[in-house]
Amino acid sequence: MLPTPDGAPGPDSIGQELLAFFINVGETFGKNLPISLMLAAVFTVLTWFWACNPGRPWWRKRDLVTDLCYWFFIPVITRYLRIGLLVVGAAVLFGITTANGLVAFYDNGHGPLAALPLVVQMGLFLIGEDVILYWTHRYFHGRTMWKYHAVHHSSEQVEWISAARFHPVNLFLGSVAADVVLLLAGISPNVFVVLGPLTIAHSAFVHANLDWTLGPFKYVVAGPVFHRWHHTAADRGGDKNFAATFPILDVMFGTFYMPAGRLPDNYGIAERGYPESFPAQLARPFTQ
Ligand SMILES: [Zn+2]
Ligand SMILES: [Zn+2]
Repeated sequence: MLPTPDGAPGPDSIGQELLAFFINVGETFGKNLPISLMLAAVFTVLTWFWACNPGRPWWRKRDLVTDLCYWFFIPVITRYLRIGLLVVGAAVLFGITTANGLVAFYDNGHGPLAALPLVVQMGLFLIGEDVILYWTHRYFHGRTMWKYHAVHHSSEQVEWISAARFHPVNLFLGSVAADVVLLLAGISPNVFVVLGPLTIAHSAFVHANLDWTLGPFKYVVAGPVFHRWHHTAADRGGDKNFAATFPILDVMFGTFYMPAGRLPDNYGIAERGYPESFPAQLARPFTQ
């Protein structure tokens, strides 16, 4: 690489930006790989004993390559969408436009929420996030937004690896917007150190091919049978169980569905000829 004087703009600074981008992508991949291998091992063993829908193992599912693309690229896309919205949010709502100002604003949260112990902030974040996501999820099941959410429901063999199947528009107006609202409210980004890996593991868990209802805890935390009903047709359980983490929200708003003694099956969407590849699915909402 050619030496460039400090601060001088030039072709090399574009090269450095690109290099930084690829390093970031590589870091995100690197962080996800160990947790992915661990989840793969855990759910392979658990499904061996407690499959909800016995049959083909996850590594032989027909759309595995598509799921892998989502699994490794979605964290990268989410990261950039979140950074973008954090910058815009701070500028529009608080008039912060400098890099140093942004670092000071977000570094450890701000205002009364940031003064609370981190574990309390984590609890507030989880509850706040789940309430926002419950309603955005219902909005995405409506007529206007379904085309962006259909991707998530398009998998016919629901497995732990299907958890990351989200269209970027769905992500942006869903979990990314919810994260940014809570960070703008003052919660410290340090909550992600624990909640980040926990959220990945929990969302893989609710999509795992397991017959676990969680017994009396089914109202406390979302489990595999609870969420697998959500992946069935709308006139079965597909228009129920919207909560990501706390099923009590579905109980409160009349959308809880876990019929006793029955297990969900037959997943996917009614639409015929839905594309199976990653790029075709990303383009799909814009070509309808
Ligand atoms: Zn849904
Ligand atoms: Zn799902």
